[in-house]
Amino acid sequence: FIPPYDATVTQKMYDAGMVLLGKTNMDEFAMGSATNHSYFGPTSNPFDLNRVPGGSSGGSAAALAAGLAPISTGSDTGGSIRQPASYCHLVGIKPTYGRISRYGMIAFASSLDQAGVFAHTTEDAALLLSILCGVDEKDSTSSYEEVPDFSKSLESNQLYRIAVPSSFFAALDSEGQAEFRRVLTTLEQMGHTVSWIDLPIQDYVIPTYYTIAPAEASSNLARYDGVRYGHRHENAHTLEELYSLSRTEGFGEEVKRRILMGTYVLSAGYYDAYYQKALLIRQHLKQVFAKTFESFDIIATPTTLSAAFLHNAHDTDPVAMYYSDLCTVSVNLADLPGISIPVMQHQGLPFGLQLIGRPFDEATLLNCSAQIERALPWHSTHSPIAMQEVV
Ligand code: GLN
Repeated sequence: FIPPYDATVTQKMYDAGMVLLGKTNMDEFAMGSATNHSYFGPTSNPFDLNRVPGGSSGGSAAALAAGLAPISTGSDTGGSIRQPASYCHLVGIKPTYGRISRYGMIAFASSLDQAGVFAHTTEDAALLLSILCGVDEKDSTSSYEEVPDFSKSLESNQLYRIAVPSSFFAALDSEGQAEFRRVLTTLEQMGHTVSWIDLPIQDYVIPTYYTIAPAEASSNLARYDGVRYGHRHENAHTLEELYSLSRTEGFGEEVKRRILMGTYVLSAGYYDAYYQKALLIRQHLKQVFAKTFESFDIIATPTTLSAAFLHNAHDTDPVAMYYSDLCTVSVNLADLPGISIPVMQHQGLPFGLQLIGRPFDEATLLNCSAQIERALPWHSTHSPIAMQEVV
């Protein structure tokens, strides 16, 4: 597909004098956690080619980890920037919902979708974020909130009250827990206050996300009818056959699964029991986070529960794949900003620390990330592919 116009994100990068090297691989319609549901085939993780780079923006992450580009963009509906950043040893930031215009981005779940940035350093992430954020008349959900120059907020060593939900820590294995504790100890040594809190949300965030996101996706994808957009079956005899065959041929397996789930939870008999209930839980989740941010500046969790999984690890069990988003989806459901930073290892492979902030307080996340980067510099770790000499 060659787009006839530029997305606002793309236009802003051109306006800033950046050179776009190319499009990167991703899961079809941004649905997935492994970049294994792409029409173009899977992408591998530059740290271990037998493993996935994460998804859905896995190509953007892999390109950086392989040393092919200094910076890239992605979209994050439930973790698709932070989870690949975690698996590929990168900084990945999903700003607050509305911070960056969605104009020109193909809609997956419109109330959750948000563009963001992959980078090797906090400073690079801050620089690009400052370029991309801001209100856009072409996206009515983009925010009027003032955009600071994020790169100016990196120097200070401001001290923060950091909350750590014990439930996410408990979900890690012993090696993951030791790594996470090591980072928390560093934060304490730097003078930050680290407090364990009860945030018992892990049982319902995945079901809530996987009700709301497919519901919105099924509605957004209704436009792909073979008439106006996308693939069109050429030999249909009736209009119904045209719709049916175009959609059957044009959508991949995971996208069809989402459409089925979405139309099911929105159907007359189940709307109240599933979709309406998920919206209520989303509201509750926002309140739980707002309450937590009355006493704390940042919530810290692992971004993922381990390093990247092997290709095909979850092929027969899509729900197991959905659970790799356990730590990230709540941030989208609550419209908050989140950043993943590459400070941990699991079995010799990278996995990230996630910092979650108040709405529109990306500056605090970037400042804290920059402080951690000064204390635990991560630049000396490169993927084997990035280390190979270019002949
Ligand atoms: N893995 C999640 C999903 O498949 C998140 C995707 C995303 O953030 N685009 O829905």
